[in-house]
Amino acid sequence: MPTANEFKSGRHFLQIPGPSNVPDRVLRAIDQPTIDHRGPEFAALTLEILDRLKTLFGTRSHVVMYPSSGTGAWEAALVNTLSPGDRVLAFDNGQFATLWCGVAQRLGLEVVFEPGDWREAVDPVAVEQRLREDQNHTIKAVMVVHNETSTGVVSPIAEIRRAIDRSGHPALYLVDTVSSLGSMEFRHDDWGADVTVCGSQKGMMLPPGIGFNAIGEKAIRASETAKMSKAYWDWAPIIKNNEHGFFPYTPSTNLLYGLCESLTMLMEEGLDHVFARHHRLAEATRHAVAGWGLEILCRNPANASDSLTAVIVPDGYDADDIRKIILERFDLSLGVGLGQLAGNVFRIGHLGDLNDLTLAGTLAGVEMGLAIAQVPHEKNGVTAALDYLAQTT
Ligand code: PLP
Repeated sequence: MPTANEFKSGRHFLQIPGPSNVPDRVLRAIDQPTIDHRGPEFAALTLEILDRLKTLFGTRSHVVMYPSSGTGAWEAALVNTLSPGDRVLAFDNGQFATLWCGVAQRLGLEVVFEPGDWREAVDPVAVEQRLREDQNHTIKAVMVVHNETSTGVVSPIAEIRRAIDRSGHPALYLVDTVSSLGSMEFRHDDWGADVTVCGSQKGMMLPPGIGFNAIGEKAIRASETAKMSKAYWDWAPIIKNNEHGFFPYTPSTNLLYGLCESLTMLMEEGLDHVFARHHRLAEATRHAVAGWGLEILCRNPANASDSLTAVIVPDGYDADDIRKIILERFDLSLGVGLGQLAGNVFRIGHLGDLNDLTLAGTLAGVEMGLAIAQVPHEKNGVTAALDYLAQTT
């Protein structure tokens, strides 16, 4: 039993860049009796979800779901479209780009991993140039993370598509939207992704546990000749079973109740409004960081993420010490610096079920934590954010 000192009243502030806070409506939806996943009620649920997922991904084509994390959905995108020894192109602009390449390598693919800068987006010009150099078309896929969760930098997905097209290269375009979908605009069809990868635990406001692939026609055609071993991840039996609202295995029934509710919430709010809300809260966060006299990791403001902000800690200070103080004193969880950023940044998640006052509380916790940790900063961050929030709607 916790002692009086250890007891925490009030709600924990989970402001990491995913998993995000699960709204009460979604929690209540999940808290229902599990039903027969081969019965008519379940089929209706699946069909309704699949229909709405198409709106969320911006596609008229297929969306498949797995009881998996985002990593499983990464693997699914690769094993369904590629053959052993195929070459894939990626750019080193963050930890998740790096991890996805690691999955590709362990599956036996040859990864062309171009050096990059973790403060920058993937550069469409570099993509075009690299593909033009590959005159024999040995590269079979380009892998890009839309919103790098480790850095808070957004890559221009539609522009990269145009760069691929300009190069005249037939490579597939595989896009990770794990921390952007449902928080920032993304359009699978219009932006020309061939496979879009996602997970349930961020913009979709669900617990972790569902992985997604949105699959365009070109990717479907590639899957018909792709030779990588696959069983559980194979799109074909899932798409076939999904036609009637079923799965070739036992799906995560209760998470699907939650997904149906979270999709209802996103549609009730309206996707344009959801994206505008995230943008405004992200802008307020950036005002706060500027008000503290600190720097965000993303160098080009045009590429700054609307779902998280990575804040650089001044030299000589450890971001993890600051996070620890903030967690212990204010019951607020912030994101850790990942990979080469460990100790140098903390990440403020501002995605999912979030409003002005949740963000204000979060920023207040950060400002107090900076003071307690004696990090040199100006005390204008919260004020700047509140002024911005008060002046904008
Ligand atoms: N891609 C991105 C952009 C992520 O942020 C994450 C996780 O945070 C992943 C992939 C991996 O997803 P998971 O941890 O659910 O396997």
